[in-house]
Amino acid sequence: MPAPKDADARRAIAPVICYPVDTLPGPDMPAFARHRATLAKTGETLVLPRDASCFRVPAGGAFRITSVEGPQVGDLNIWNARDLSERFYSGKTRALHGTHLSTGEQMWSSFPALRPMATIIADTLDWYGIDPFGGSVHDVIGTRCDPYTNTLLSGGQYHACCHSNLTRALGRETGMTLAEAETHVHDVLNVFMCTGFTRDTGRYFMKASPVRPGDYIEFIAEIDLLGALSACPGGDCSAAHSSDEAACYPLLVEVFAPPTGTDWVCPPMNGYDRSHGVAG
Ligand SMILES: [Zn+2]
Repeated sequence: MPAPKDADARRAIAPVICYPVDTLPGPDMPAFARHRATLAKTGETLVLPRDASCFRVPAGGAFRITSVEGPQVGDLNIWNARDLSERFYSGKTRALHGTHLSTGEQMWSSFPALRPMATIIADTLDWYGIDPFGGSVHDVIGTRCDPYTNTLLSGGQYHACCHSNLTRALGRETGMTLAEAETHVHDVLNVFMCTGFTRDTGRYFMKASPVRPGDYIEFIAEIDLLGALSACPGGDCSAAHSSDEAACYPLLVEVFAPPTGTDWVCPPMNGYDRSHGVAG
């Protein structure tokens, strides 16, 4: 289509932030740091390459995901451990915080709860920022690698995509059938993954993760959480995924709990009345 005469003027209009977060009741990070010092480690799970594992974190506890052995990306799902219908809402988290998360930002839950499920309190990759390609770390723009898209694009049958890994792990943890567990798997936080959108065509890209063994990201559990983490078959996601080509390494999940008797207040459910404009 021919551009209108005022095309440049229209393009020159400055953007506005969709969701100013100045009014969000942001986390009290100094209080979280003091609280974190009271927590004690209660367990750990080593997530094997091209597989996933579940873990549980009590409200007021914490969990830390650490790179071990080699650069590796992880796909994280979290649910309210008492009601799996409340789960991480990647899209709204992206709308609130931006394309990538780091310290002080929160993982928000699905409607109607729409409340913080977890708050990031430490990120050893926070120095990375946004690189010259527009890439950054820990994204909420990708979904998770999955066998359906792989079959669509390559025609193959590959069974170690993060979607399948998370499905198997949730099935093992809960006793659900695979078909039932699959319905609970959702868009992830791409832990340690370095991604962005190309500047010229706006397409989703990935590049080698800057993560190195010893790097970690740590979260406070705002509510009782069931988590599942997949060690992506893409490894550091520098080239391929949805195949066994990439070098893959395990990821360590450590869980920390507050002392018995700790008074932890969970964030309230969202205050919208859910009438949707219908009286009565
Ligand atoms: Zn993956």
